[in-house]
Amino acid sequence: MAECDFDCESCGVEDCGEPEAKNFNIFRAYLNKESSVKKVIGVVSGKGGVGKSIVTSLLAVEASRRGKKTAILDADITGPSIPKAFGLTGNVVPEGEHIKPCTTEGGIDVMSLNLVLTNESDPVIWRGPMIASVVKQFWTDTIWDKEDIMFIDMPPGTGDVTLTVFQSLPLAGLVVVSTPQDLVGMIVEKAMKMANMMDIPVLGIVENMSYMRCPDCGKILRPFGESKAEALAKKYGIKLTAQMPIDPKLAETVDRGEIENITSNPLSEFAAALL
Ligand code: ADP
Repeated sequence: MAECDFDCESCGVEDCGEPEAKNFNIFRAYLNKESSVKKVIGVVSGKGGVGKSIVTSLLAVEASRRGKKTAILDADITGPSIPKAFGLTGNVVPEGEHIKPCTTEGGIDVMSLNLVLTNESDPVIWRGPMIASVVKQFWTDTIWDKEDIMFIDMPPGTGDVTLTVFQSLPLAGLVVVSTPQDLVGMIVEKAMKMANMMDIPVLGIVENMSYMRCPDCGKILRPFGESKAEALAKKYGIKLTAQMPIDPKLAETVDRGEIENITSNPLSEFAAALL
């Protein structure tokens, strides 16, 4: 018997019951039948090293603490750092035709290339289309069990994989991560403009490494210059912004794989507003 192939033009099955069938789009990646994800938020940055993965992790921790069934899809294939932040060292296991994600102690489901590789320090020497197809497979082949919210740690920049994720996954919106010196440059704006061109709303801006507190006198220092987040938010009509300090303790917590144990989440209010 013919089966629905999600393309109403060709499959010939009437009333197949597939809600997505009528909206079939060749660029779109579809979830498997065992999965459901209510809302997907991408976390993007103009360039690497600005704290995109930390922000993704903190948002997920806060969502989970607020009772949401939370998932992270680590699409930063060449620099996957999510498993380390959560102290995940195991490998994902196949279940039938699909894969079960690894689950953190706090109950966050995570899929990352580092949970597939036998040696996590092995480099991924793949061309863009291959990397992009792995991201789509993570979406389609993983069992995402009744997730209320999924955060996608996107690859930095506006390249091939970013474009694939924008086209193929149902993003409800984006969080843009930057740093004060980065914000003045054109790179972050490129990411914002790319999102606009693809009709994906930017929900908020997180300015990471925005300031630091002097450990001796408590004075606020801004080693990378004055905050630019508000100005950028105003320019693009974005209501939600957050500033995160440089915090060596946060970096240590991440290095120890204990991000779920943080007592004061610098993105708590931001995440609440986002949710
Ligand atoms: P990206 O995902 O943008 O490449 P990461 O989140 O992996 O960046 O962060 C890069 C490094 O900077 C990590 O070692 C992380 O622990 C550190 N880092 C990021 N943000 C902060 C911060 N606010 N305070 C201290 N260290 C930070």
